[in-house]
Amino acid sequence: MAIRRTKLVCTLGPACDTPGGLRALIDAGMDVARLNFSHGTHEDHGARFSRLREASDAARKSVAALQDLCGPKVRAGALAAPFSLGAGTRITLVEGDASSAEDVVPIQYEGLAGDVRVGDKVLFDDGRIVLEVEKIAGDVVHALVVQGGGMRSHIGVHLPSRTMRGSALTDKDKEDLIFGLSLGVDFVALSFVRRADDLKLVREICNEWGKPTPVIAKIETPDAVDNLESVVAASDGVMVARGDLGDEFPPEQETVIQRQILTVARRVKRPVIVATEMLQSMTKSTRPTRAEASDVANAVFSGADALMLSGETATGDHPQLACDMMSRIAVEAEKSAFYEAAPYASRATGVPEAVARGAVNTAKEIGAKFLVAFTESGSSATNVSLARPTVPIIAFSPNRQTRRRMALLWGVIPRELPALRDIEKLVDWCTADVMGAGLASPGERVVMVFGAPVGVPGSTNSIRVHVVR
Ligand code: PGA
Ligand code: MN
Repeated sequence: MAIRRTKLVCTLGPACDTPGGLRALIDAGMDVARLNFSHGTHEDHGARFSRLREASDAARKSVAALQDLCGPKVRAGALAAPFSLGAGTRITLVEGDASSAEDVVPIQYEGLAGDVRVGDKVLFDDGRIVLEVEKIAGDVVHALVVQGGGMRSHIGVHLPSRTMRGSALTDKDKEDLIFGLSLGVDFVALSFVRRADDLKLVREICNEWGKPTPVIAKIETPDAVDNLESVVAASDGVMVARGDLGDEFPPEQETVIQRQILTVARRVKRPVIVATEMLQSMTKSTRPTRAEASDVANAVFSGADALMLSGETATGDHPQLACDMMSRIAVEAEKSAFYEAAPYASRATGVPEAVARGAVNTAKEIGAKFLVAFTESGSSATNVSLARPTVPIIAFSPNRQTRRRMALLWGVIPRELPALRDIEKLVDWCTADVMGAGLASPGERVVMVFGAPVGVPGSTNSIRVHVVR
């Protein structure tokens, strides 16, 4: 059995909303479940969250829940009926929640006519429909249809990002975040981050509610790309959010920006999730296009920690097949001769990181089959993961939330551990556990990394080589 190192994030939605559907995704390789707060009610997400916990408990696998806050995403209001927009025709946009006239599209953005300019492009449906602003008369925006398509109620609207005023955290986001924290989500992702301070707003609320939670910055605005170093440094991880990023930048720049984000994140030591349209055609089809398979493999080759599925698992026809396919492509790329899991950054910046690197080197020199990390907060496992060992990292923790959060870490297999304080007992218990799970056989060497005294978070200072008996 090949152990996959790259992690898989699957978006939950109506296509996988039954306990059986979730179990199928877990069995196909889901490590992190994304609750997308751009859609659905608190009731929907609450029910989904409990089903996820039940399914992952039943599967005895730590699966993290990632709450994705929608941020200041603009949508169209309600239309009287869907209609088709032809290229070359003209249409008007007004601020509002609903419209009854056919050629008037309501946009839920306060101050629309004051904020757009003549010549601006307004995009709908992830860029499938393109309008160009021709004239602004009072509250009415007149636009030419450059690229037509089907217009429907509540379709996503993309205004030029300089237009967007206001806070990165809307009132809806605040309510959603408090709800997510009350559920106990393991990660929070923020959309449309522009600067490092945007993430502070999220952290403040988490701390206020006594639930410090790792924050993932979704990189999808030109400002975030301009401020990349500081945004990445202020985050606990980043997402290459290629959907909205692709509305802001022309296609020829997208892959370059993806590489840029990966490079900066590796230097700053933050995990990266590559997201959106990775296996898009599998929303309908039972196999991916060649280009999609290649995109997934190349994201693995370029050092992504995790890959994400969106509509493929949330609303697609084949959620389980899509997840399974992504897993298989990742495994194949990782075991090929072209995969070099290069460590993050060139220098360790402290004792825990240096010790973790030492353990990784030791494992390599002696041909150990596994690294084992004992970890309370997950920091030992994070440091080992950053050092990119050639062997899997089995990370034992007595803390359930730590185990779930470690599900996002490259190469880490979270496993449960009783709260033991004595290192000899720990070693015996863990070797019995890895043997029981079929992960190691007698005679094999395992390198262990931990902080002594055991049970104190963030104190990685010891390496031990053990022969499994
Ligand atoms: P979204 O974020 O699906 O919430 O828009 C991901 C992206 O933009 O790629
Ligand atoms: Mn987005």
